[in-house]
Amino acid sequence: MPGMQRDMADAHGRTNGNIGDRADSPNGVEPAETLDVVVVGAGFAGVYLLHKLRKAGFNTKIIEAGAGLGGIWWWNAYPGARVDSQYPIYALSLPEVYEDWNWSSHYPDHVELRAYFEHIDKKLQIKKDTVFNNKVVRATFDESEDMWFIECDTGRTFKARHFIACLGFAAKRHFPDWEGLDSFQGEIHHSSFWPHEGVDVRGKRCGVVGTGATGVQITQEWAREIGEEGNLKMFQRTPNLACPMNQVFLTEEEQKKDKETYPELFNQRWQNYNGFLYQYRPEMMFEASEMDRNELFDTLWKMVGRPLEPHLIEPLSDMEIRRAASDF
Ligand SMILES: Cc1cc2nc3c(=O)[nH]c(=O)nc-3n(C[C@H](O)[C@H](O)[C@H](O)COP(=O)(O)OP(=O)(O)OC[C@H]3O[C@@H](n4cnc5c(N)ncnc54)[C@H](O)[C@@H]3O)c2cc1C
Repeated sequence: MPGMQRDMADAHGRTNGNIGDRADSPNGVEPAETLDVVVVGAGFAGVYLLHKLRKAGFNTKIIEAGAGLGGIWWWNAYPGARVDSQYPIYALSLPEVYEDWNWSSHYPDHVELRAYFEHIDKKLQIKKDTVFNNKVVRATFDESEDMWFIECDTGRTFKARHFIACLGFAAKRHFPDWEGLDSFQGEIHHSSFWPHEGVDVRGKRCGVVGTGATGVQITQEWAREIGEEGNLKMFQRTPNLACPMNQVFLTEEEQKKDKETYPELFNQRWQNYNGFLYQYRPEMMFEASEMDRNELFDTLWKMVGRPLEPHLIEPLSDMEIRRAASDF
């Protein structure tokens, strides 16, 4: 199936095997590399952990299935993929990283995110301790040695006292088992294995399946790219709502000033239930006047249409309040 690599980063390779039953290396050639910590995954979580653990004196390496840094941003290179968290919170809170980095806008796209990871590497030297193109397929703990034994699909093996899986939430992809898919003669792409060089859709007949954030993002980009001769259809099972992004472009000057407030903003995240700059406000829904409630909706609306995100505003079951948010 062109464009699709099945099961690339399915992280569920752990078994109850006994480390004592195996040679250090499955092919008996290279002995296992011994470390203090093995971190799996080179997304935000793994990169930050590597930095912190090295500073704390642990001999640490990241093992990553992909060929570059960025985690989900490495794989999800589809058109329109972008951040929806409010600037400047979707970034590392390390001054040495943000002091000379500037974003183009409040909601940067995947290309900029990958460039950001290259910048992180320049500042923190992450790649030198990252083993790319290696998928961990097995991790077993040997109680007699008090060590993890970690095996990759390439045959490389590692031993470590600590094993930390930073796999994100989407490393195990969903592949539909639709009849006829295997014999389809056209090109098929999966949004999370998107070719970095892009897909040329000009003048072609294309279909996008699904109307979650991904489907909406691809469709609105392709609608522009496909041209008069092309034909684009989006297949929707369940109607969805899409709100305006309210994109804001940024200058370097503005950010220079903003950076003075970063430490305070990054600190503020710890006060909120989700690590962002907004808070769950049930009292605003049940006790506030309509005017106050609309004021809150207005604030949230300016943050990428967030009044429609039910978890922010109310218990999921309250239809009256959901209606108020939807009407707004
Ligand atoms: C389009 C899009 C927009 C998003 N926007 C936002 C946003 O605005 N705000 C927000 O908070 N979140 C957003 N997210 C969620 C995003 O997943 C997280 O913010 C964050 O990037 C996750 O980082 P992570 O390090 O936990 O995991 P990931 O970035 O998912 O990294 C996990 C890594 O582990 C690797 N891996 C998995 N299994 C194995 C294995 N067995 N062996 C070796 N390597 C393995 C994978 O290859 C991957 O590189 C968005 C996600 C997408 C797709």
